[in-house]
Amino acid sequence: MPIYEYQCNKCGQVFDKFVRSMSAQAEVECPECHSKDCRKNMTTFGTMGAGAGYGAASSCAPTGG
Ligand SMILES: [Zn+2]
Repeated sequence: MPIYEYQCNKCGQVFDKFVRSMSAQAEVECPECHSKDCRKNMTTFGTMGAGAGYGAASSCAPTGG
């Protein structure tokens, strides 16, 4: 079942929301502070199939300077 993880931008609360339709833009609300300012986190469980694996993620230095 499609369960997306959200994080509140206001208080930083992480919660998961059950979404019926993937295309439907459900409005999420923080259960902690009831703020609508939430962002969807990228979850990698269930979506990725076997075989798909990223290589060693080396920490890239931030460009700039
Ligand atoms: Zn919150």
